[in-house]
Amino acid sequence: MLDCLPERVEPLGLADVGRSFRGKLPVRCFERLAPLLHSNEGELAVRLEFRLDERRIRTVKGTVEGELNLVCQRCLNRLRFPVDLKFSLGVVSSEAEIDRLPDGYEPLLVSGEPIPTRALVEDEVLLAIPAIPVHEDGMGGCETGYRNPEIPEKENPFAVLKKLKS
Ligand SMILES: [Zn+2]
Repeated sequence: MLDCLPERVEPLGLADVGRSFRGKLPVRCFERLAPLLHSNEGELAVRLEFRLDERRIRTVKGTVEGELNLVCQRCLNRLRFPVDLKFSLGVVSSEAEIDRLPDGYEPLLVSGEPIPTRALVEDEVLLAIPAIPVHEDGMGGCETGYRNPEIPEKENPFAVLKKLKS
């Protein structure tokens, strides 16, 4: 259910008139996120505000909240990843406008055609996910079991033993 969140948004026009949306997007609708997921259950709560700021810059401010089940790249088990992100985008329609965007806004380059709302949200979620998600040692670390040999172990006592032997 998209609730009040439309399927597609046209940021230039929406910012001019000033519109806000709130809704939920199921995690399974994010296609680019899928390869990173342990499971695609759940949904993310999304708020989007399209505004002209005081400098007449078209902006999209948004929040995304929820939880993703990522794959830990060290043990390959489920990694619960809380999503609680805020973003401020400056809507631009040319590369030249990107350079003129004041600090505090990330550029959102648009053509004037409506864009899928989920693609807009997915871009921001992808930016918030670490490049190599792993269970943090401070939070209990990985469960025992398979460990990906490509991810170096921080403190592996056996590595020290190996060195002593050779
Ligand atoms: Zn792990």
